[in-house]
Amino acid sequence: MPTDLIDLTADIVIAHASVTEMSSNDLLKEIKKVYATLEALTKGGKALTMETSDRETKASARKMREAAEPSIPSAPAMTIEEAFKPDQVACMVCGKTGMKTLKRHLASAHELKPGQYKRQYKIPKDQPLAAMEYVEKRRRIALERGLGDKLAAAREAKKNKQMGE
Ligand SMILES: [Zn+2]
Repeated sequence: MPTDLIDLTADIVIAHASVTEMSSNDLLKEIKKVYATLEALTKGGKALTMETSDRETKASARKMREAAEPSIPSAPAMTIEEAFKPDQVACMVCGKTGMKTLKRHLASAHELKPGQYKRQYKIPKDQPLAAMEYVEKRRRIALERGLGDKLAAAREAKKNKQMGE
């Protein structure tokens, strides 16, 4: 995809989204539609007009049909490296950034299970769908809680022992 076309698409969709309330799915469809239109226009403005040849019409119809389907775009919005940052995780389907975990967003915005998402974008199975710092923090809390429980149990045992003496 040429970058200027992506920029232009983004500008148009952002402008539209700023005046109309749009869901993630609406946005996704809008992006695809605008991009396909712009792409067709840059290729001589024929693809979407009535003067198109049969083959072009079919190709264009297929493109429109693909754009209308709420399925996952085959091209990710970003690379795995860009999507998984230490302090945040981004959605490779729609490009939404700044999330701590992806699972809920994938389910609500794209009706995707983590497994499907990982398969689609060839994300390693052991990659947590969450910001690493968040995962680490949760792990630390769990660990501390575990230690806390052990300490409490040890204290309790000691107290019981003392009471028994
Ligand atoms: Zn998304």
